[in-house]
Amino acid sequence: MAMSAWEKSLYQLIRRTSADLPEDVARALQGAVARETPGSNAATAIQMMIDNAELARQQCGPICQDTGTVLFWVQAPASLITQSEFRTEAEAAVVRATADGILRQNCVDSLTGKNTGNNLGEGSPVIHWEETDCETVRVSLILKGGGCENVGAQYALPQTSLGASRDLEGVRRCLLHAVNAAQGKGCAPGILGVCIGGDRATGFDESKHQLLREIGTRSLVPELAELEQRVLSEANQLGIGPMGFGGKTTLLDVFVGTRSRLPASYFVSVSYMCWAYRRRRVTLGSAGHTAMGL
Ligand code: SF4
Repeated sequence: MAMSAWEKSLYQLIRRTSADLPEDVARALQGAVARETPGSNAATAIQMMIDNAELARQQCGPICQDTGTVLFWVQAPASLITQSEFRTEAEAAVVRATADGILRQNCVDSLTGKNTGNNLGEGSPVIHWEETDCETVRVSLILKGGGCENVGAQYALPQTSLGASRDLEGVRRCLLHAVNAAQGKGCAPGILGVCIGGDRATGFDESKHQLLREIGTRSLVPELAELEQRVLSEANQLGIGPMGFGGKTTLLDVFVGTRSRLPASYFVSVSYMCWAYRRRRVTLGSAGHTAMGL
């Protein structure tokens, strides 16, 4: 069946996201390998990641066998496309990408354990929708693997066992605890998306949304920017290293955002992203054609 322009653009977005590591991530891995001791396990592991990503790009194949959860964030005016129309187009693109081997069959019914075979299921793909007054549609996509999702964490402060109070020092302790707990799992070097506040659900939503930021960008809030930089530096002194092999590169970056919270609650939600940091953004024009991005 012929693809609509919307489906075609979303299919291309999925294909590029699955097969082509973004430039900022590639740069960060190159910088990391240069900092590690030549010939060390850490340097070898990172070089394998770089080589693997390059091979995937050349062959237009998935960077990792786990193509992960399909997470869209959409900002769109209702005049161009409605939420239900977008879901129809996105689902068609996901089904096609699965049939073409760009996405692994990754969606399992939680009760029966049966794989749906096409990545469609209850809540799959995930679509975060925001209606805007813009004249274009902005679509961001993250493919987030299961191994790194498993080591995400959420803390309800205060946490006596960590000496973590309801302040930024308490948040710092939680983040380093999460990194320590993830060692050997989650395919480091990782990237932390963090939300301070919200409820349990919106905290995790925002922590994933933070992962759309570019590596090396700091929060516009000075105390959060300082926290990001400090946790990045301290995590990289833990000696965990890429894939847990030791070395100087445990994290590539830390992104911290906030949501308002109830007086009674203070959540710190941590989404851990692996080195296969697959995320891309595209801007679509009125008929669904790609105007910018990829
Ligand atoms: S955590 Fe990331 S790199 Fe590791 S297997 Fe999963 S998707 Fe692949």
